[in-house]
Amino acid sequence: MSSKCDVVVVGGGISGMAAAKLLHEAGLNVVVLEARNRVGGRTYTIRNQKVKYVDLGGSYVGPTQNRILRLSKELGLETYKVNEEEHLIHHVKGKSYPFRGPFPPVWNPIAYLDHNNLWRTMDDMGQEIPSEAPWKAPLAEEWDHMTMKELLDKICWTESSKQLATLFVNLCVTAETHEVSALWFLWYVKQCGGTTRIVSTTNGGQERKFVGGSGQVSERIMDILGDRVKLERPVTYIDQTGENVVVETLNHEVYEAKYVISAVPPTLGMKIHFNPPLPMLRNQFITRVPLGSVIKCMVYYKEPFWRKKGEFILSHKARKLARLSKEERLKKLCELYAKVLGSQEALQNPRYHTSSHRCGKLLLWLSDTDHFYFFAFILRVLRQPVGRIFFAGTETATHWSGYMEGAVEAGERAAREILHVMGQIPEDEIWQLEPESKDVPARPITTTFWERNLPSVPGLLKLIGLTTVCSAAALCFLAHKKGLFVRF
Ligand SMILES: Cc1cc2nc3c(=O)[nH]c(=O)nc-3n(C[C@H](O)[C@H](O)[C@H](O)COP(=O)(O)OP(=O)(O)OC[C@H]3O[C@@H](n4cnc5c(N)ncnc54)[C@H](O)[C@@H]3O)c2cc1C
Repeated sequence: MSSKCDVVVVGGGISGMAAAKLLHEAGLNVVVLEARNRVGGRTYTIRNQKVKYVDLGGSYVGPTQNRILRLSKELGLETYKVNEEEHLIHHVKGKSYPFRGPFPPVWNPIAYLDHNNLWRTMDDMGQEIPSEAPWKAPLAEEWDHMTMKELLDKICWTESSKQLATLFVNLCVTAETHEVSALWFLWYVKQCGGTTRIVSTTNGGQERKFVGGSGQVSERIMDILGDRVKLERPVTYIDQTGENVVVETLNHEVYEAKYVISAVPPTLGMKIHFNPPLPMLRNQFITRVPLGSVIKCMVYYKEPFWRKKGEFILSHKARKLARLSKEERLKKLCELYAKVLGSQEALQNPRYHTSSHRCGKLLLWLSDTDHFYFFAFILRVLRQPVGRIFFAGTETATHWSGYMEGAVEAGERAAREILHVMGQIPEDEIWQLEPESKDVPARPITTTFWERNLPSVPGLLKLIGLTTVCSAAALCFLAHKKGLFVRF
């Protein structure tokens, strides 16, 4: 016996829930099948008496993320600004350097030129990459054949700028520099608004959090959809050979629908059997798209000797620390805090909450034989519908992909693709521009004259070389004029 509906949405993360809400409002009969016993996916707010609530997954939102801001507001959620009163601490070679703003300051003039050139070059390269079609960048193939490590080896002259750039990659995509395609990473940063927007707190991606936690976005949509959301229903089989698309879950429930939206991360989609199989290209490429590694840790102390602290453990460090027990991990983390903050109080009576080490953001992996035009192909096939199956999920977004914002964009776009094939909306309404949030307006990211015009280190060396050659030539000329050169 099967249940019939218009659309089955596979996956109850923000993307699937946003898709289902839009279709429900358009008058369609929609069912969401979610594998876990909760909605929210990579957003997860836990609640208890001690901490009230805390986000263990996605949490921060900020200016230019207008879709998630609009949707959450409509659901009655409010945001608050993240505290930026205290300094941040850049801990390097055993020393702690407090600073404010997105990037740690650099005092060495050569290192300063190198750092400045690094951010400027990444943003300039990003300008060459169209957000919706990165494969159309003039040098797409060349950059896609290169890892970020190779690119940074070319751009960075000083160890300090290379270290900071590595940390930047770790932080943005929870992966190592040798694991990601340069084209993909440059695109990733560009589609978030550039290097400053992506890392900034004020006026950037980390400006705000939701009062009560981000998990409420999906939970409140579930309240609207009621029993149309089915939990603990991992989808295992999708068959579109008949009149309707047939969707089967692990517990052998069968749903029939006119259309399906797959809102699961691409690699998890590999666990679903499709009949007929998905196109070869899609299958082949998603096996090469692993998820990043991140453990989000929150430490609470009885006495606020410092204030509540939060920390991410990223990429290879996450994979290393995942082998430790929760207690051992807490010990290591507190020892680090004690070192960085220069206070033994960090070791006293900590309480700890952590998400189970989970896979975070999508990253592209280049094998040693990087002979593929990897990323270009992947994005092209990732959001291409296959018959009556449409693809959502943050990885298929074109703006803040990898974030909650991207999840909303992708979910709503997939929902509108279905409305279009059903003849309810014209094609040019599938992709919609989002008006800027009035509550969280974006200020433009500006650069100073010097940031735009200072030379890079090699540029400076060339300049010095040129100046030396010119000076020598001028001296020779003068000497010649004054008859100082003697002919033998
Ligand atoms: C630790 C961490 C911190 C983050 N920080 C931020 C942040 O501060 N700000 C931000 O904007 N973003 C952040 N992100 C990213 C953000 O959480 C995600 O981009 C976003 O939530 C993804 O939503 P999604 O719906 O596309 O995918 P998901 O949330 O992964 O949803 C997919 C859903 O599909 C379900 N599913 C999988 N397979 C099946 C199946 N076979 N059948 C049925 N259901 C299935 C899963 O259980 C899941 O619920 C963070 C992520 C992590 C992990």
